[in-house]
Amino acid sequence: MLTDAWGRAVTDLRISVTKRCNFACVYCHDEGLGPVARPGAPHGEELTVEEVERLVAVGREFGVRSVKFTGGEPLVRGDLEQIVARTVRQVPDVSLTTNGSLLAARAESLRDAGLKRVNVSMDSTDPEQFRAIRHGALRPVLAGVRAAVRVGLTPVKLNLVVFGPTVAGIPKMVDYVRGTDGLKLQLIQFMPELVQHERWAVDLAGVRRWLEEHASQVLVREMHHRRIYRFGPTEVELVDPVRNPEFCANCHRIRVTHRGELKGCLNRNDDLVPTRGLNDDALRGAFRRVITERVPYYGGYITDLGSSSVGLPMVAERTAVEAAAPAGEPDGADGRGERS
Ligand code: SAM
Ligand code: SF4
Repeated sequence: MLTDAWGRAVTDLRISVTKRCNFACVYCHDEGLGPVARPGAPHGEELTVEEVERLVAVGREFGVRSVKFTGGEPLVRGDLEQIVARTVRQVPDVSLTTNGSLLAARAESLRDAGLKRVNVSMDSTDPEQFRAIRHGALRPVLAGVRAAVRVGLTPVKLNLVVFGPTVAGIPKMVDYVRGTDGLKLQLIQFMPELVQHERWAVDLAGVRRWLEEHASQVLVREMHHRRIYRFGPTEVELVDPVRNPEFCANCHRIRVTHRGELKGCLNRNDDLVPTRGLNDDALRGAFRRVITERVPYYGGYITDLGSSSVGLPMVAERTAVEAAAPAGEPDGADGRGERS
């Protein structure tokens, strides 16, 4: 197992299999590599099935225990099942983050290839708002979520990016998740570093308060001290990496770009280590190098968190509270209280 200078073992690999995407989300960071490419754009740069397989094999030698595929939109690749099948032979815990629009037709074949779980990005239950944010249609995404649950790619985690336009819809999303077996919800703080638009960031205090007031139970994860809000049988988690040194201190992930560069941190592009064309020994060296050079972004790379360049003007937190109230309380709001 390889551990960086900050004592963080690297156990997870997040591999971007393409830069292409059929959506055009307003906030997309695309792994920090600039705007996504259109689905039909030339893709000579993309990693081949064999290249992914070799990266995973070397990662496993160094202690990688889970692999997540991402993009761009990974399902624009027709050979994703092959990629999953070759990966799962080496690292059984293989999952995927997708916009869900192409998932309905392939959930079963992906499951058969060995995929274990899926995250589907879904920012709103309202088709118009969904389109305004993601520049794509909600209906096929809902079909994709249903198919994923049906074939057992569970728990299906829905990712909702928390920023100005999505805050008011959180209660409806919680209701949707509670009403469907096999779903969990991750509320992911909008990350402005790679896309600018700092004015879109919202203070999460109002969201947190709404969750605390409406959840039937609040649990605290040991790692990150992250809270899990239970709404009946389902769980809602708030992922808050921005200016959060504890988040970075617990980061065990390195990334691979669609061109095959190793990348130590989502927020940085000055740490890329190319791997294309390397023999196996040199590839091992590339892994060692990216891990040696790895630094926690907040607390290591950005040390002055009080006045750092990522300073975010906060939107008034009442945005969340006032907007949330009319959408109705999830059942069980009165039974809250248990914490651990
Ligand atoms: N296309 C796939 C999708 O949308 O799920 C996978 C790639 S996407 C880059 C991975 C995840 O990052 C998605 O859940 C997306 O919503 C999230 N994301 C993209 N830009 C973001 C940003 N600026 N802040 C927070 N999350 C972001
Ligand atoms: Fe970016 Fe994913 Fe949206 Fe595509 S679907 S634009 S990759 S966040």
